[in-house]
Amino acid sequence: MKTSKPLPKMLPGVVCKQRVQCGKQSCRCARGDPHIAHYRFWREGGRLRKQYVRAADIEAVRAACAARRADEENYRELKREMIASTRRFNSLLDLIREHELLIPRRTQAPKFFDMYQHEQNKN
Ligand SMILES: [Zn+2]
Repeated sequence: MKTSKPLPKMLPGVVCKQRVQCGKQSCRCARGDPHIAHYRFWREGGRLRKQYVRAADIEAVRAACAARRADEENYRELKREMIASTRRFNSLLDLIREHELLIPRRTQAPKFFDMYQHEQNKN
């Protein structure tokens, strides 16, 4: 009896069917009636990788692949939101800078450095 470690909750890639030959000369697949086997395909370091999926694991592996895709989509959405927030923040900063330029210099509160220099000059 084969025991296997529990499947990860998330897996990259997609489960596909492939027609295979087992290699036995006497088998029907050698006469052009291939078996159907399931494999998970994914990319790792730019290379396409492939792993056999047992019939009993097909649904669980498919679910793990779907969970991974959903997770990646959530990440992309979060990234889009962060980029949009940064843009809004930057345009708000621009608005503040433009507004500061419109305020006449004399109405601005004295800067700490100016006050400090003023104190120094008195002595
Ligand atoms: Zn066969």
